Amino acid sequence: MRHRRHGICATIIPCADRDATLTVRPEGLALFGGGADGDWFMVKDSVWRRGQRAGKCRFLCVGCLENRIGRKLKADDFRRSAKVNFVGQKSAKLRRRMRGLKPAKRLVETTFRL
Ligand SMILES: [Zn+2]
Repeated sequence: MRHRRHGICATIIPCADRDATLTVRPEGLALFGGGADGDWFMVKDSVWRRGQRAGKCRFLCVGCLENRIGRKLKADDFRRSAKVNFVGQKSAKLRRRMRGLKPAKRLVETTFRL
């Protein structure tokens, strides 16, 4: 789905369970730089795999992932090495879950194809 607004082309990434928008990614900018906003995060594989038992998908917002794993996310569930967890604007909910999360010494940039 593409939207053109203020001359910027952006890709809207929807949550798989609800029609919530996870992030708006302006084309041509670093994937997670600046403009990204909302529930954009990476959890550890074990947490993600648990969430995938209810059905495979690629993107979920905090609320739906918590719904799938049956508990609230905590700082320890997020990947310390994922740069995405430490850049951009996070929603208030996501910031609460991430409280206390310390970035790893080496952060890995995540890339993926839509
Ligand atoms: Zn959702």
